[in-house]
Amino acid sequence: MKNKKVRHVLGISGGKDSAALAIYMNQKYPDLNIEYYFCDTGKELAETLELVNKIEIYLGKKITRLKAIKNDHFEPFDYYLKSVGNFLPSVQARWCTQKLKLEPFEKFIGDDLAISYVGIRGDEDREGYISTKPNIQSVFPFRRNIWSIEILSKFFQNENNELHLKLYQEIAENSIFLRAKEILKTPKDNKFTLSKKFNALLAISASTFNKVMFEFLKDKNYPISHLKEFSLIEHEDNLNREDIFNLLRNSGVGVPSYYEKRTFTVDGMTGEYARSRSGCFFCFFQQKIEWIWLYEQHPDLFRKAIDYEKDGYTWIQGERLEDLIKPERIRAIKLAAIKQNEKNNSKKSPYLIDLLIDSENVMCANCFI
Ligand code: SF4
Repeated sequence: MKNKKVRHVLGISGGKDSAALAIYMNQKYPDLNIEYYFCDTGKELAETLELVNKIEIYLGKKITRLKAIKNDHFEPFDYYLKSVGNFLPSVQARWCTQKLKLEPFEKFIGDDLAISYVGIRGDEDREGYISTKPNIQSVFPFRRNIWSIEILSKFFQNENNELHLKLYQEIAENSIFLRAKEILKTPKDNKFTLSKKFNALLAISASTFNKVMFEFLKDKNYPISHLKEFSLIEHEDNLNREDIFNLLRNSGVGVPSYYEKRTFTVDGMTGEYARSRSGCFFCFFQQKIEWIWLYEQHPDLFRKAIDYEKDGYTWIQGERLEDLIKPERIRAIKLAAIKQNEKNNSKKSPYLIDLLIDSENVMCANCFI
């Protein structure tokens, strides 16, 4: 049965992009009754928790804190670590994201239909690591293309070409229809790929494409199929990194403080470091220079991260944290960071370390965005 209630949800990870998305949605689509949530692993930086509080004040709305387990003796991470026999998570074995982020989120949604707004920017080429439950649909408001790859693939089946023409003729202004007609008729193949086809249509009018897609989805089985209207249908924006920083600064929420560059000196040279992501203080995704940042800026947390390394398990493959902080090792890591920052200087960002995150493909919308 159609027209079932659909929830609108937005996860705050503690990173800059989801924070900026909450601000953007609040400014641009105040009519949407968005539920905000934050999955707390119990191992977040104080700066992250502070950011979540600031967004809550800015929104004037509660951000629901989700904990994978409520236990008086263990924080969620420690509880699951014990249950897997102290096996530390890693890029290859990310049980932590599944248990501490995805499962609490999916439990929060239950069997309800939900549209989940995800803060992947217009200047990024990835989908993120998101829920694949059929009752949860991801939408990407920072991109000109707000639709997920799964929906686009369904839409752009060649056998739908006649239907696309019909929908465009009914919905689009005549001048837009005439410009889109040849593109719509051309079958998708190895040369005229899905991405080329839909980018050509978006370039003519993203809002028209959205209206056609909304109509196309009406008799399908997605959460959005149950909506009578959808606020993002007129969406044309495409926000990049600079826009995200501007949203954060202009709203008064500000940029998460762990992004702020701090200087260090090594061999008479001055370098800069910061942390590039939200998430657990010991997250195995952090780079070696970020571990040194943790050691020097939050020595207490670094000590705690060391305490987790037992039974041969380490956070960094092949290197114990105890070894990472030997003076010669710190020197080498800092020198390498200075070199890397010089290379990155050609790219535009007020937060140099933030550039490093883009070099990694395995990203998690729940932990870092
Ligand atoms: S932040 Fe890192 S350690 Fe924490 S849950 Fe996410 S991937 Fe795992």
